[in-house]
This record gives sequence, C-alpha cells and structure tokens, in this order.
Amino acid sequence: MAATSLNAPNAPLLQKTHQTHVFLKPISTIPCQTSAKRFSISCSATTQDRLSVQSQSQDRVFNFAAGPATLPENVLLKAQSELYNWHGSGMSVMEMSHRGKDFRSIIEKAEADLRSLLTIPENYAVLFLQGGATTQFAAVPLNLCAPGDSVDYLVTGSWGDKAFKEAKKYCNPKVIWSGKSENYVRVPSFDGLELNPNAKYLHICANETIYGVEFKDYPVPRNPNGVLVADMSSNFCSKPVDVTKFGLIYAGAQKNVGPSGVCIVIVRKDLLGNAQEITPVMLDYKIHADNNSLYNTPPCYGIYMCGLVFEDLLKQGGLEEVEKKNQKKAGILYNAIDESKGFYRCPVEKSVRSLMNVPFTLKKSELEAEFLKEAEKEKMVQLKGHRSVGGMRASIYNAMPLAGVEKLVAFMKDFQAKHA
Ligand code: PMP
Repeated sequence: MAATSLNAPNAPLLQKTHQTHVFLKPISTIPCQTSAKRFSISCSATTQDRLSVQSQSQDRVFNFAAGPATLPENVLLKAQSELYNWHGSGMSVMEMSHRGKDFRSIIEKAEADLRSLLTIPENYAVLFLQGGATTQFAAVPLNLCAPGDSVDYLVTGSWGDKAFKEAKKYCNPKVIWSGKSENYVRVPSFDGLELNPNAKYLHICANETIYGVEFKDYPVPRNPNGVLVADMSSNFCSKPVDVTKFGLIYAGAQKNVGPSGVCIVIVRKDLLGNAQEITPVMLDYKIHADNNSLYNTPPCYGIYMCGLVFEDLLKQGGLEEVEKKNQKKAGILYNAIDESKGFYRCPVEKSVRSLMNVPFTLKKSELEAEFLKEAEKEKMVQLKGHRSVGGMRASIYNAMPLAGVEKLVAFMKDFQAKHA
C-alpha cells in the first residue's frame, strides 16, 4: 500500500486503498489552521468533518446521472488537495486573475492535453466558452453562415431537434432526416440521405443523450465546400475521433470532461471571421480564438477541472484505452438487458447503441418506482429516464467505474429474479 503525496504544499497526505482514503497527517496541519494565526481566520473543522472526509470513497454513490455527471475520484481528490493553495501560489484557482501567469499555464496545459488526446491539428482552434452547448445551437449558424444560407440537420434525437429549431432564427435550416416518428431509435443509412448540395454545413448530434443513439461513423456533406458540425456533448473524449472530418465540434463539459459552465468548441480556423453582423461579441468564435479564450473572464475553475480530467485521460493511455473501457462497461450492461428475456428492454437499434447513455424499460412498468427505490438503497442513483421518455437510463460516462456497472447489472439480475 503506497502513500500518495499530493502536490500542494500543506496538502494532507492521502493513503489510498481500493476503497478508502485515509488522512495520514494530523488535522492540526491542514492549511486552514496554519493560516489562522496570521490572518485570524478560524477553522471550524470538527471531528465529524474529518470522519466524513476520511470515508469519502465509501460514502460516494454510483451516480448514473446524464449530466452534471460523475467525475473521476482521483481528479476530485487532486482538486481538493489543490483547492486552498494551488501549487504554492497562496490562492485557489478560483481567486486567480485569468490573465496572470498561473492561470495562463492552466488553460494552456488544458488545451495542449486536449489537443494531444484528440490529435487536434494546428489548423483548428480550441475554445473554452460559457453558455453550455445550448448557446452553440445559435453560435454555429451565426458564425458559419449568412442569414439566407441553407444548412442541413440530421435529427436523431431531441438535442438535434433543439439545435435545428434555434438555427431557424439565423439561417435557412432543413431537417433532411428525422427519427422522431419512430421515437428516435436509429441513425439512417447515409446513402439515401437527401443532402442539399448548397448546404453550408451538415449538423449532427454525435450522441443523443436522452435516447441513447450514437453515430459510429459520420456522414459527409454533399457540398464540397460545406462542413460537418457535431454536438459531441455526451460522448466527447469517450473514444478517438478523427477531428479532420469535422469543420466544428462542440461539447458541454458536464458529462465526460468536467463541471457545467464550460463548453468546448473545436473549429477549423479558415471558418472563422465570417460571423453575421448581429452576432453578439460573446458568440463570435473569431474573437475568442484571437484572444485564446481570454477575451473576457472565462469559467476559470471549470477549465482547471477539465484540465485535470484531460491529464487523467492521458495517464490512462489516451482515448483508445478509454474507449476499450467504455466498450466493456456498455457491453455488460446491454448484454444483461438483452439476456433478460424481455424483462428489461432497450429500444435502440443495436448497431447505434450509445456507449455513454443506456436507456431501458421494464416490461412491468409498474415496477419502475420500486426499481429506482431499491437501486438507491444500494447507492446507485439517478437511474430515472429523461422525463420526456420515461423508463430508466444509466449514463456510464468515462468516470463511471466498471465496478459501478457490475454492481448495477448484479442488482438488475437480482431484481428480475424477485419480480419475474
Ligand atoms: N446537447 C446534448 C447532446 C446534451 O446532452 C445537452 C445537455 N444535456 C445539451 C446539448 C445542452 O447542454 P447545456 O445544458 O450545456 O446547454
């Protein structure tokens, strides 16, 4: 059992077992007490606080929420150790100037690590923005086309539909295919798509978070000058992606790579600089690109957290390794559903089932409330499906440990045995 010393000066030493983290330093050395003398700040850490921190791992639940979602435990612990005094700077990341050298080093490293994870070429800008993915539903058309321009939307779920509806305010979008009448269970064959030869871009949602439909390969716009645009909010960094197939990728951070409040945009540089006149300054990609995402105060702490996640993903061996883990987790869960003889059912076509969001229903829908209650008793939470579709949904992003999925599968089998 090796003791792990965390970076920050005065950080409590943690000893990590597979389940628990135990403080080795006495509580009297934690930062709030050492600085109490100089600044007369009193620290109210009680024995109870200490106990709750000591048993944090045991206390944490398996959180199957669709987002904000579970974050890697080691990332949370690292952030905790650096919270009070980041790398000896005497302040937390939340208190730093976004233009100072410390924060600059944080955002630059986050960008460099993301570039290396996704092999993002130099001719693409990486932007850390605010406003969530929903803001991009407007920013994309505002930046990529003029008011009358035609654009195509391939709609495989309700996020793609929302993006289309927002684009209607700024250009001339057309839904070239929608899975709505079938309740969004598939991705169409690309051969038969009626792509507009003049469309400035073709928009897809790479992973529909609510319905669990994920593109496994990508359509190519018919217009040779058009580009593919993807909302990757719920499968960002879950697997390798060939960025060069896209003109623009955007992703809200709060599913796979950090807390809410950060939205990442990866955009080919030659597409910048043509924003519509009415584009608010905050939605103009060129302004953010020219200012390295520091045009105004960015979501500093969220960017720092994303940086810790990127570092962790690289340490795991990069996205090839991450994808293998995700395939394994999703595989055992879908198998359990498919082998349940109809007790559980996933409506999504097998070839496009999401590795991230697994929706399923119970044949006896009257048992749903009990399923959720019993799961919660076992510390598995947020398994209720989206209010628009009902049933269950297990979101199993990168940070969901295999143990969490194994526990869920064991629970499902047990529940079935009791209720079949
Ligand atoms: N796109 C997808 C695929 C999503 O899952 C979500 C959020 N669940 C959004 C867009 C909207 O993101 P935000 O709440 O960050 O605006």
